[in-house]
Amino acid sequence: MPYTFSKSQEFFDRAKHSIAGGINSGIRMLEQPVPLYFDKGDGARVWDVDGNEYIDFQLGQGALLYGHAPAGLADAIAAQAKLGLHWAAQCELELDVAERLQKMVPATELVRFNNSATEAVMAAFRLARTHTGKKLILRFEGHYHGWSDEGLVGFANPPSTWDDPEPARVHPSKGIIAEVTEQFVVAQWNDIEHLRQRVEQYKGQIAAIVCEPAMCNTCCIEPVEGMLATIRELCDQEGMLMIADECITGFRFGAGGAQDYYDVRPDLTVFGKAIGGGTPFAALTGTREAMAKIISGESIHAGTLNANPLCLAASRWCLDEVIALGSEHPATLNRLGQKLMASLRTLADEHGIPLRPQGPGLAFHSLMLKPGADDRPVKNYRDYVERQDVARWAHLRRCLLEEGVRVIERGLWSISLAHTEQDIDDALRLSAIAFKRHAESWTGA
Ligand code: PMP
Repeated sequence: MPYTFSKSQEFFDRAKHSIAGGINSGIRMLEQPVPLYFDKGDGARVWDVDGNEYIDFQLGQGALLYGHAPAGLADAIAAQAKLGLHWAAQCELELDVAERLQKMVPATELVRFNNSATEAVMAAFRLARTHTGKKLILRFEGHYHGWSDEGLVGFANPPSTWDDPEPARVHPSKGIIAEVTEQFVVAQWNDIEHLRQRVEQYKGQIAAIVCEPAMCNTCCIEPVEGMLATIRELCDQEGMLMIADECITGFRFGAGGAQDYYDVRPDLTVFGKAIGGGTPFAALTGTREAMAKIISGESIHAGTLNANPLCLAASRWCLDEVIALGSEHPATLNRLGQKLMASLRTLADEHGIPLRPQGPGLAFHSLMLKPGADDRPVKNYRDYVERQDVARWAHLRRCLLEEGVRVIERGLWSISLAHTEQDIDDALRLSAIAFKRHAESWTGA
């Protein structure tokens, strides 16, 4: 029997009286049929308040690389909690974490900690402007860099703006400082010639190029051959900083992040999510040269809870887990993910569902083609908007959820280090039921 969600519905109805809109992050509103309430997680599984068990590929929006509530992580946090929650001062743990990052991540010489990747991105942009004395940041459509005024410019330019002679730089929120959008140049991912033209067009004005090394936030689109190398080359040539936003890719793509996986060396890197394993923790790392203006204090970086000992204790445990895996990581995640992708594709074909899982495996996206859309891999944001059948994916996602397979609303699946072959096989067995129900009930509306 498909799951029902009456207790979550009850909590949500109650929440609307005390919590604005009933949720605490706008995106959580997307969950259908109701934003879910959870009370327990263990490894690759999570349970909601209705007692429904899920094999979890949502993984706290990707933060739970180590699965739910790993015992060692819980112990590390509990031990630290007994010693002190917060000092707003220094402790040896911050050296332990910073020194691990130096060893793991090739382009990391120096580190600063924050509580969220949104903040670390803001710090990176400010630092790049201070470092270069230039004002523009070049970013790519479909790449997400946090929810601040700066982070979301041009993330999801609507098709009505695509023909604008200037690169569209729409901000999806009201209430932002209008001038902020003018501080950005927006380009399209995976189009090397177009990128060169954009840089030429704004020559001498760009402080930094920022990207997710793999565009995990839109269709999980890996960089085409030469894309990251071209960004590096242009940054060197024009005196711009290269910023890698590794909030999702960091430690999921291996101990050295996506920069090691794709062999590129950014000047600045943002880590979030898996660096804290589910605690509110993030880091801005960089070369000594790129971090100089933070050291001098010209580029202000601050935060009451920065380098909070609870998060540091969690992070040290998380990084040690990744280090201990050695070269197995991310190969095991990719193998499990690729098995899942291939089998989902086979299931989809059996049911006449135009689903084309896309991505490296350790994470992948459920590309659901619109009727008549051609089925080559999606290469950038506009291509995605033109071909993704949003309503049909939402319908299939709900069928999956009702059978016990939980995926990020937009369609991203992440594999954790806690997922086993058995979890993947179980997820496929449940997916078969969900795909059948979807095929029988999808009316095209
Ligand atoms: N950058 C990227 C690539 C992200 O995926 C996210 C979050 N999804 C952020 C930045 C912002 O992270 P946070 O929500 O922790 O502020």
